[in-house]
Amino acid sequence: MRHIAVLTSGGDAPGMNAAIRAVVRTGLEQGWEVLGIRRGYAGLIAGNLDPMSARDVGGIIQLGGTVLGSARCEEFKTVEGRQQALRVLDERGVDGLVVIGGNGSQTGAHALSEMGFPVIGVASTIDNDLYGSGITIGVDTALNVALEAIDRLKVTASSHHRAFLVEVMGRECGYLALMAGIAGGAEVTIIPEVEADPEAVAVELRAAYERGKPHALAVVAEGSRYNAEGLAGYFKKHRERLGFDLRVTVLGHVQRGGTPGAFDRLLASRLGAAAVERLAQGEHGVLVGLIRDEIATTPLDVVVTNKKSLNPQMLALAHVLAK
Ligand code: ADP
Repeated sequence: MRHIAVLTSGGDAPGMNAAIRAVVRTGLEQGWEVLGIRRGYAGLIAGNLDPMSARDVGGIIQLGGTVLGSARCEEFKTVEGRQQALRVLDERGVDGLVVIGGNGSQTGAHALSEMGFPVIGVASTIDNDLYGSGITIGVDTALNVALEAIDRLKVTASSHHRAFLVEVMGRECGYLALMAGIAGGAEVTIIPEVEADPEAVAVELRAAYERGKPHALAVVAEGSRYNAEGLAGYFKKHRERLGFDLRVTVLGHVQRGGTPGAFDRLLASRLGAAAVERLAQGEHGVLVGLIRDEIATTPLDVVVTNKKSLNPQMLALAHVLAK
């Protein structure tokens, strides 16, 4: 009988619970013991792990966040920290680890895998910045939360003839902002990958009114050089010359806590189950993701050394549809 363990790490994402549930139930189906590790790598180092039953993961598929808890753990970045983690896994007889998380978490998974332990990653981050999965767990739900806010802001923007700015998450990757901009019908979309000029933003927002639009709305990714704070400050400073200022809404962590939608529940169920199946087939040191709607694995060293790029056609589309 094998003993595997599962953890969630880094930023939480809606759908992580569905992935935990899938790992536990698919593992039990294999006749294995499945241990749940509390609070990510920090809990692993502290030996905070217990066997989970099929009932322990009941009633969680519809919950946002992660019932196992997550953490950011500096100690795991050190060799000593990871050696302590290996000792815990050895003492508990664990011979396989599933890591559900984003870029940082998979970098940690890769580091542990390099030390000879069988690790398999499950692609989960609302930022969709993970190489090896076209879409990751949590993105769709976070996007829908952003859209709900954008739709509401458009209503009030139209009533008052005001320019609005909505900041969505995305440190280095503008995926969420770009998709929210297209699906939310934003007049301007600002992402970290493309340097924005605040003067040009003002021109585009004013032009929207001149084309007869009742509102002017910009969506910006938090990691852009001119994010909400930067743009609002610039508009305030030059208010008289620009002729208007921006009403700013920063969605922040509101985007994380949504109830996972159908897409994320299904994606998480598929990826979690596939992680166990691949482990059973002897595959490890890889990330399980979705590529062109097929489950696919990518070596963790490839995952952590490559950057996912945005589809340039989507950038062009955002521009054309904002007319
Ligand atoms: P996310 O997985 O959402 O990108 P973080 O970047 O915060 O989140 O990473 C989560 C955790 O992964 C970190 O707190 C750390 O424990 C682990 N981690 C990140 N980078 C490394 C690294 N280079 N080596 C080992 N562990 C890492």
